[in-house]
Amino acid sequence: MEVTQLNDIIKSSKNILIISHINPDGDTLGSMCGMYSLIKLNFKKKCDMLVVSKVPEKYKFIPNINLVKHIEDLDKSREYDLVINVDVAAIDRICDGKILFDKAKHTVNIDHHKTNIGYGELNFVEGDASSAAEVVYSIAKTSGWKINLDIATCLYVGLLTDTGSFRFNNTTARCLEYAAEMIKIGVLPNDMFKNCYETYTKGMALCQAYCVDKAVFLDDDKIVYTTVYKKDMEKYNTDEEFAEGLVERLRAITSTSVAFVAKEMKNGGCKISMRSKKVDVAEICGLFGGGGHKFAAGCTMKCNVEEAVKKILHEIRKHEL
Ligand code: AMP
Ligand code: MN
Ligand code: MN
Repeated sequence: MEVTQLNDIIKSSKNILIISHINPDGDTLGSMCGMYSLIKLNFKKKCDMLVVSKVPEKYKFIPNINLVKHIEDLDKSREYDLVINVDVAAIDRICDGKILFDKAKHTVNIDHHKTNIGYGELNFVEGDASSAAEVVYSIAKTSGWKINLDIATCLYVGLLTDTGSFRFNNTTARCLEYAAEMIKIGVLPNDMFKNCYETYTKGMALCQAYCVDKAVFLDDDKIVYTTVYKKDMEKYNTDEEFAEGLVERLRAITSTSVAFVAKEMKNGGCKISMRSKKVDVAEICGLFGGGGHKFAAGCTMKCNVEEAVKKILHEIRKHEL
């Protein structure tokens, strides 16, 4: 059984590295810190955690997140006994972390994206799981690992944020049962909600309102999108964190079938966040090298925002809305 193999590999490993994906969200960070504490508590092993871009301010409350390292803190020639990726849909989402992944003796891929091809030596990819955190928790339970409040807190963050507060269509009975178990361990749902959602500064709230205000409605309002430029964020003195929840606000409009946000990136490229009620947007994002889930997906394009919007609209319109 794969869980037994995982336990054997952890037992035989001296040095372990856990890696989260670029532009980290609550699930990848919660799963990483949760896995870190699970390994520490149950195996007393040395572990490193790697973040390949900035940790958003609001996730600084996650237990042990202060211990994360960045690629420049690590020796890139090092051969870890075991590298574990969490919530990493495709290997290019760990950027230079791939160098360490490729050198490792053993690799494990823990994820819940249907587009994940199973690039690890051991793959725990559950397309029906709400989050990578749910997969980590399931592995912990099957293995009989001890779970303390820090671990439950980390993994609850993954469940909460990837289900949009237990509202999206990935909210299953299993996900809620696990959340209930975590609450029994001592997790306080209202504290978690405040830490994850009531985090907007005035500038962030106003910038989000501005981006909703300039949204473009097309095809009987079935397609709605907005753009985010560097100059918008400068004007409101905010960073990219303001945009969390923006695309969900556009999907929440009754007429919407497909919603997306096109965000200008520092290097001139464009990041697309797409949501839908019917169309498979993972497929659309897949055409541009991205992926995700049927109703929530993303991709990063090398062209500017205007060209990206044009290409994305062209693909969306091939589908029945
Ligand atoms: P986001 O719009 O960034 O919240 O992402 C929505 C979903 O799509 C998440 O499950 C992401 O993991 C996934 N996703 C976003 N960008 C990419 C990408 N470039 N490649 C693969 N999956 C992505
Ligand atoms: Mn994620
Ligand atoms: Mn996830």
